[in-house]
Amino acid sequence: MSERKAAIVTGASRGIGRATAVRLAKMGMDIVFTYNSGSEAAEETKALCEAEGARVLAVQADVSKSENCDELVAKTLEFCGRIDVLVNNAGITRDGLIIRMTDEQFDQVIDTNLNGAFYMMRAVSKQMMKQRCGRIINISSVVGVMGNAGQVNYAASKAGIIGMTKSLARELASRKVTVNAIAPGMIATDMTAVMSDKAKEAMKAAIPVGEMGKPEDIAAAVAFLASEDAGYITGQVICVDGGMAI
Ligand code: NAP
Repeated sequence: MSERKAAIVTGASRGIGRATAVRLAKMGMDIVFTYNSGSEAAEETKALCEAEGARVLAVQADVSKSENCDELVAKTLEFCGRIDVLVNNAGITRDGLIIRMTDEQFDQVIDTNLNGAFYMMRAVSKQMMKQRCGRIINISSVVGVMGNAGQVNYAASKAGIIGMTKSLARELASRKVTVNAIAPGMIATDMTAVMSDKAKEAMKAAIPVGEMGKPEDIAAAVAFLASEDAGYITGQVICVDGGMAI
């Protein structure tokens, strides 16, 4: 096995995924990351990680397709020979009140956010069990903990991620593989940029620290869970939300 650790980060062409990939590169890991449609943005992420000294492989993959996830893991093993960290970050929203929410809006969010995390966890588990070490870090949401009007699809996917995290943590604990979730609050990325000013102000009012978080705030929590210091933590949900879920 190579001396350098290897991390997979899904959906790292921008936002929280990019900040996470760069942070793990800074920790000395090689990075395999995915993007779905943003090939130019992916090039920027790649350059930022390489500037931290990492070997980097950027892979176009739709995590809602199980074959894409299996191929991604095979490519990672070819490139790095090992998988130390998986960060399931890729996610989408298709918001709407339930009376107007279409089957398609519901299914798209579940397919990407929940099924995608499942396909990736299944694909890396065998390798991590064989290695007898590994860290799986799932990006959930404060919405999965508290719910949010207009987001039954998203809340279902993010609460589902918490259930999968706790279940897999129990399955893999004896193999020294930890599985945890991070529940971000309101983080300034493209995902939240589309909200109206009125909605943003209402959200801000619900944040005890009084301001939105940055992608780097989430990346720092991922870095901790991926570090040696977090080896005895598994099956947990860490809210990084300025106090929203208190
Ligand atoms: P973002 O800026 O919208 O970025 C989403 C990323 O996911 C992009 O890299 C995108 O790739 C990728 N992606 C989307 N669909 C994909 C698919 N089917 N297959 C592979 N990749 C896909 O989002 P973000 O705000 O950074 O959010 C990252 C994660 O944090 C998500 O899971 C989100 O639910 C969660 N989260 C965010 C907030 C927040 O306030 N921002 C709060 C709680 C939780 P392309 O651009 O290449 O298509």
